[in-house]
Amino acid sequence: MKIPVLLYHDVREDSFDTGRVAAKLRPYIIRESVFARQMEWLYDEGYKVVGAARLRDQAAGAAYKLAGGRIRTARNPYRLIGLVFDDGWKSNRTKVLPLLKKFGFTATFFVTLEYLGRTGMMDWADLSYLNLQGMEIGSHGMRHVSPRGCSDEELKSELIESRHALEARTGQRIESYSSPTGYSDERLAPLAREAGYRTVCVSRPALNDFARKEKFSVLQKTGIKRSMSFPTFSGIVRGDAGVYRKLRFTRACRSAVKTIIRPAGYEWVQARVMRSGR
Ligand SMILES: [Zn+2]
Repeated sequence: MKIPVLLYHDVREDSFDTGRVAAKLRPYIIRESVFARQMEWLYDEGYKVVGAARLRDQAAGAAYKLAGGRIRTARNPYRLIGLVFDDGWKSNRTKVLPLLKKFGFTATFFVTLEYLGRTGMMDWADLSYLNLQGMEIGSHGMRHVSPRGCSDEELKSELIESRHALEARTGQRIESYSSPTGYSDERLAPLAREAGYRTVCVSRPALNDFARKEKFSVLQKTGIKRSMSFPTFSGIVRGDAGVYRKLRFTRACRSAVKTIIRPAGYEWVQARVMRSGR
């Protein structure tokens, strides 16, 4: 089975002026009406939308049942879609949750501990409320640092401290971790597993192949951006190989550009690559 995991960040009213926020955040602020349309389309198309831990369990269970069966090679026979939110934006409770409830969807909300309670971000009461509504809370680290810049010890403490803090306050077992900046290296998965997680999410536009039951999964999340067209969005959901290839190509171009141009010039180029790439 090949299943997408959709990654969102902040969702704001359509009239929100993105010029008010840092340039690096702008591509990830989705218009409320666009988000509502995307969720409604998923519902109309009969997709079952769930958070990371539930996706892992349901997909693994389904793959196990299907093994050897005639639909073994079916792409996404149960129309499962993973839905996750990074950072802990306030809009996740105020704008996203009501829509998820309306359509009977669940999601994982990955929060960075240091951001809790800041302006525009959720607080502990919001997390308790999401929990009560059947949503999964996951860790997005203590300080939102890329694993790339962490020593082994720092990475371990980001993983363990954040899990303990979230478990102590929510009273729930925290099973899922989402890598801040989406970056992954060979240390992340084994350390996350050792730290007690069952799922770790990294950013890469790709489908997730659930061929068998596994105790620990790395999920690849595909970021949904403000400038994305509806056909690109629906192509991601349907698992269109061409759409994924294009997204990976754009991403590779961006990181190549990042390494050869000074940071000051990078934003200018980034704006153009992003506009033309999707
Ligand atoms: Zn993040």
